Amino acid sequence: MLSTLSIAPYTVHLLESGRFGLDGGAMFGSVPKALWQRSNPSDEANRIELALRHLLIEGDDRLILIDTGMGGGLSQKQRKMFAIDQPGDPLGSALASAGFSREQVTDVILTHLHFDHAGGATLEEHGEWVPAFPSATYYTQAAQWELANAPSAKDKASFLPHQFLPLQQHGQLEMLAGPEEIIPGMELLVGNGHTDGHQMVKLSGAAPDGSLSTMVFLGDTIPTTTHLRLPFIMGYDLRPLETLQEKQSLLAQAADEGWWLFFDHDPQVPGVRIGPGAKDYEIVERYGAGD
Ligand SMILES: [Zn+2]
Repeated sequence: MLSTLSIAPYTVHLLESGRFGLDGGAMFGSVPKALWQRSNPSDEANRIELALRHLLIEGDDRLILIDTGMGGGLSQKQRKMFAIDQPGDPLGSALASAGFSREQVTDVILTHLHFDHAGGATLEEHGEWVPAFPSATYYTQAAQWELANAPSAKDKASFLPHQFLPLQQHGQLEMLAGPEEIIPGMELLVGNGHTDGHQMVKLSGAAPDGSLSTMVFLGDTIPTTTHLRLPFIMGYDLRPLETLQEKQSLLAQAADEGWWLFFDHDPQVPGVRIGPGAKDYEIVERYGAGD
């Protein structure tokens, strides 16, 4: 399948660092199982299969990684609970298969600091947790950093300090206060629905035919194609009604302007274009289809 996208002056590589499982009920919030079990079949523990997907954006002198997946730092108990079976260093292997090394990554954008997004941000070296990308600047929103360091009982289990504290200790963390253009053409769309200071990444540039092309990495605001339906909002979200508003405005614009939307967790479909449909929106094109 096609695994790169040209948005001049950038080349976008699509990477995956494995699979895991989360409770299907938690993934779809108040939506009954009868409405999601066909599209997202669950296992004996009611978990649905999810991907760990990343974008790697290659520019003239920048190599920007979006999200870092689970990493290798989870306990046996956590690996069992979340049905993780990828061994070793799946993110390093995914980078290598695209022809890159950890040392070449110049920037790491963390959509947020949940353990399935920030897990590969650090690695263990001689018993110490250190940044996994030694030359990179890491970016998170200040609001997310504050929450991750003092989470409520509801989301405490989602934040693992060894995944993000070393970034600050090693002077590699840049905290942002709202939307910012880190490289020309790339915009961070900041929302507070899923968690405080969650950032989606929007990149615009020239398609191979010269037309304007826009893609958005949706993070956990819309984690799978099933979540394109407006009421399908995760139980993990701190402010589901804000998630709903964020989805409404983003999807309306994406349908209007033909944006490519990329999903962090969809197990089958990495990206789509959408149009108006009988149920909110419908998929009009799947990324990689027909290659
Ligand atoms: Zn999350």
